[in-house]
Amino acid sequence: MGWIVHKFGGSSVADAECILRVATIIEAETGPRVAVVLSACKGVTDGLLELVALAEQRTDTHLERLAGIRARHAGIADTLLSADGARDYTRTLDADCRDISGILQTVGLIRAAAHNIRDLVAGYGEIWSTRLYARLLIERARRPGAVRWVDAREVIVVEWGALGPAVQWPESESALARHLPASFEGTLVITGFIASNRRGIQTTLGRNGSDFSASIFGALLAAREIVIWTDVDGVLSADPRRVPDAKVIDSLSYSEAMELAYFGAKVIHPQTMAPAIARQIPILIKNSFAATKPGTLICAHPRSALKVKGITTIDAVALVNLEGAGMIGVPGTAQRLFGALRDAGISVILISQGSSEHSICFAIPDAEALAAGEVVQRAFDSELREGQIQQVEVSRECAILAVVGDGMAGSPGIAAKVFGALGDAAVNIRAIAQGASERNISVVIEARHSTRALRAVHARFYLSPHTVSIGLIGPGLVGAALLDQLGSQLQRLKDGANLDLRVRGILSSKRMLLAEGEIDLARWRTVWQAGGRPCDLGVFARHVHAEHLPHAVIIDCSASEEVARHYADWLAAGIHVVTPNKKANSGPLAYYAALKDAARSAGTHYLYEATVGAGLPVVQTLRDLRETGDELRSVEGIFSGTLAYLFNVYDGREPFSTIVRAARQKGYTEPDPRDDLSGTDVARKLIILGREVGVQLELGDVAVESLVPAELATGSVEEFMARLPEFDAHMAARFSEAQAQGQVLRYVGRLDAAGRATVGLVRLDRQHAFANIALTDNVVRFETRRYCDNPLIVQGPGAGPEVTAGGVFGDLLRLCAYLGTKI
Ligand code: ADP
Ligand code: ASP
Ligand code: MG
Repeated sequence: MGWIVHKFGGSSVADAECILRVATIIEAETGPRVAVVLSACKGVTDGLLELVALAEQRTDTHLERLAGIRARHAGIADTLLSADGARDYTRTLDADCRDISGILQTVGLIRAAAHNIRDLVAGYGEIWSTRLYARLLIERARRPGAVRWVDAREVIVVEWGALGPAVQWPESESALARHLPASFEGTLVITGFIASNRRGIQTTLGRNGSDFSASIFGALLAAREIVIWTDVDGVLSADPRRVPDAKVIDSLSYSEAMELAYFGAKVIHPQTMAPAIARQIPILIKNSFAATKPGTLICAHPRSALKVKGITTIDAVALVNLEGAGMIGVPGTAQRLFGALRDAGISVILISQGSSEHSICFAIPDAEALAAGEVVQRAFDSELREGQIQQVEVSRECAILAVVGDGMAGSPGIAAKVFGALGDAAVNIRAIAQGASERNISVVIEARHSTRALRAVHARFYLSPHTVSIGLIGPGLVGAALLDQLGSQLQRLKDGANLDLRVRGILSSKRMLLAEGEIDLARWRTVWQAGGRPCDLGVFARHVHAEHLPHAVIIDCSASEEVARHYADWLAAGIHVVTPNKKANSGPLAYYAALKDAARSAGTHYLYEATVGAGLPVVQTLRDLRETGDELRSVEGIFSGTLAYLFNVYDGREPFSTIVRAARQKGYTEPDPRDDLSGTDVARKLIILGREVGVQLELGDVAVESLVPAELATGSVEEFMARLPEFDAHMAARFSEAQAQGQVLRYVGRLDAAGRATVGLVRLDRQHAFANIALTDNVVRFETRRYCDNPLIVQGPGAGPEVTAGGVFGDLLRLCAYLGTKI
């Protein structure tokens, strides 16, 4: 029976309870040959390294700290071991602590610690955790065969070189053979992290080196499997601390795991893989806190349908760009550049050169930015002076985002998805690199965007829901209906379309409510009544446009001109805008153009279907006609639900003023009915439609017949309502005139291709489409080159909070589809 190697990271052996859990996991193992590699208890390596640093600074606190670390181990021993066992354990622990304080005293005197001193002290954590654990297994005696403690310093021989620790295999193999009879069956408890060099001096395998220890032992023991136990369910599609929806990847190839690890998926250390790959030993990553979960299998031929397996970021990166016409066609520039960096000991994470050879850029750890800038300046000193190279530019505060997966090779469109997702999330890309293996696409971005970028790309590959941050302005009738509609659909959209809509702010003219996560829409009214703070549109927009969320949209359900004036800035800043508010689109033409420009250059979307005909598909229909090459000859219709109602009901029997009064009472008119009767609202809608097909209309260009008598244009609403009957006779006359000819009165807006726009009361035959509508219906008639004999008609309820909110909701989902959601 072959060996199986289990490695438990610091998080799995953090305290007594964890260590006991690890004992049960190993006791459940049925094979006779089990090797267990342990890290130091969580945080102990850091703690020990800190002791050395404190001693170097000659602060006296290090002894206190050492006592703390000692007490932690003694405490675990007291909890888990028998009294005798704990006493024996603590005795050796105390002896080690005495050695350490001796070393620290020397460090204090010299005021500097050589690296081998640091290694020596740091390595005690693994000695303590494994001694304790070995004793525990012995005392519990639930495993067949002997339990043997193995000090890896006596087995693993490494030499540190430029590429890190290199295992000396022949020496290590013979050391193991000396230590362990080939026939041994039982449990080995092995220190992770530490090793020796050829001269027998203690060294380490580098930070997080216990993973490496496990695979070295895996190779030495010719293990059939290596299990790396940690505190997450496996390798996740992204760092779970930054992408809470990250998913466990069921299987990975060695190369995929290597790329992910190298590019920051800290769960497994990149070096770990090499010895396992050479011998094709499968590596399983599992959660010691949930041992029954399947985990991630890393092997030569993984079974997985996913093309992209994971997305990672490396933070604290600097980008150096070397630019100059003098480099074109000159061989050896790259060699000089990277040779100079190598001589300075600076390792390069990513390189990218355009095919023009006009510039080369590379990414390095930010800590080396200044040094790298100087090295490159020096290496190309004469070229810089002579102008063959124009500049060496160092950009700090960058990050690298890497998308990893074997399946990307030979499959077109992956890069487009990555760049599309970043573009939609308004993340600027500074440099790009894709290896010829096509297993990894890496981009350099600004560090402040890294979480947002990570989430956006992660979502684009359906590894997590698309998250959209929403700010709602104007929780009046339409806004409230929209919040309720959204609330009732959130779960369905999450389950069915992987879409995560989060309302994170509500703002009225008086106050605003902001939520870090999201406002619970099931009880938004209560929360809104209860709280809020003074309203500030700038603060509101910044909050909605959170750095860590990929997409932001402001939905303006107010009718405010003041709010509409902010759209251009929001669109330019990367915030999408959805609105039923007509003010922006029917305001000055220059502002309208600025809005469209802002959206175009920032790649944002501005959607306003509900500005005309509430939820009816009017704007979208017109847009489709235009986009498919049809030509508009005219568009006309009844665009006001209020005016539609008034003239549907008015049959000459009751005076017109009585009908207006009744409509006002039913809430069918604006509080001041003059806002409807003036026709301005209809004119605005006509302008919106005209501009949609490229007709340059201003409000003043529309010939509007107002139904507000000039005498009543000013003055209070009450006065207006009181005096309106004075004009009943005039309206009655117009009605009878029409009736005499078998016609009806309708308030119609009309625009033709030449840009002539009229709004007013017209007489229509009883058979006319506009004569036969119900209640507050809107009707819009498009006459085009294609729809000429029989025009295209859109008809239906054109007012009311529910249908208007429905139209806005439709725009919101259209936006999400543009951003990559499959709805
Ligand atoms: P251990 O103590 O077991 O060695 P580490 O802290 O070294 O654990 O590594 C595990 C941690 O790595 C996880 O808790 C997780 O927060 C982090 N991590 C970062 N990226 C990933 C990823 N892609 N998949 C899984 N975990 C990740
Ligand atoms: N204890 C060591 C460290 O913290 C090694 C490891 O845990 O893998 O770096
Ligand atoms: Mg680790």
